[in-house]
Amino acid sequence: MKSANHTSLRRALLRWYRANARDLPWRRTNDPYQIWLSEVMLQQTRVETVVPYYERWLRVFPAVQDLAAASQSRVLKMWEGLGYYTRARNLHRAAQAVVEQRDGAFPQTAEDWQELSGVGRYTAGAIASIANGEAVPTVDGNIKRVLARLFEVESPLGTPETEARLWALADEILARSAPGDFNQALMELGATVCTSRPRCVDCPVQKYCRGCASGSPERLPRRGRDTVVKQVREAAAIIVRRSRVLLVQRPSSVLLANLWTVPAVDVSEVADGFEALREHLSWSFGLEVEFGASIGTIRHRFTHRDLRVDVYAVTAVRGRLRCNGSVNVAWVKRDELGEYACANVDRKILALVQWP
Ligand code: SF4
Repeated sequence: MKSANHTSLRRALLRWYRANARDLPWRRTNDPYQIWLSEVMLQQTRVETVVPYYERWLRVFPAVQDLAAASQSRVLKMWEGLGYYTRARNLHRAAQAVVEQRDGAFPQTAEDWQELSGVGRYTAGAIASIANGEAVPTVDGNIKRVLARLFEVESPLGTPETEARLWALADEILARSAPGDFNQALMELGATVCTSRPRCVDCPVQKYCRGCASGSPERLPRRGRDTVVKQVREAAAIIVRRSRVLLVQRPSSVLLANLWTVPAVDVSEVADGFEALREHLSWSFGLEVEFGASIGTIRHRFTHRDLRVDVYAVTAVRGRLRCNGSVNVAWVKRDELGEYACANVDRKILALVQWP
């Protein structure tokens, strides 16, 4: 595409964005903290899901200092239900770095933003262009789709060559006088018009689009090799004693780190899951148990794993609760459950508790 065409494309896209952009709360501010928060929440999560979380978060942690001063359990509780909890832990850690190491001052460039936990090239480019007005590109999933179609990029996503090409194209067409609006315009186009089923007739840049000219833009972008989804099976124990259910906090080194769940063990490779759970309860918690009925099976899909959890009602008949390892445990009443940060899969399991 010639540079004169780039100029017309930029104009058309900016004009369209300014007339059609959805009114989203983070688009009404230039505050770096709020823009940063929105970009982190929007990673792998839909706009409609993010809006109420974003608004509630800012009521509880209106400034980066409030977030930095909060406990991690409070932060995880506020994030509960959004998934990908590493984002919350990184955001918290980065807020503490801003307050403690930078005296509350936010980075000014994309390069500096990348020094904070959890801020990669994409997030840094988005924040720096929107909040700081820096002329840097950004490339998220929506933008990849738009660029691959506009420039008919045939190589599959995920390879270093394709990624480098998409970043170079984003930089080449960037409107340097309005980088924040331009990057958001590309994202908005990908989210609302150039979707998996592109509406080319409504597209402001149709006349520049090679993918559309080829007649089948939806074949792009080409996907890399499919991700292997691992099948995982767990056995979980619901132990209720004196109207309290036993919860354990996951260690910080595992998936869903520091969130609360019921005792469970991976039985994917085990012939007798029931027996493995009995051993786990004895070894890890010092409890000799009697099993009641299986009370349900929960299925949950993570990005790279399909989880099936067989849930059992268990009675502790002997033993004094202890922890073999560094996990925390708690006996929790029904009306206290809301105070514990749990992943969606754990809430599904806890919905099976048969309270006396
Ligand atoms: S013309 Fe169609 S394929 Fe090309 S950018 Fe617009 S919506 Fe996407």
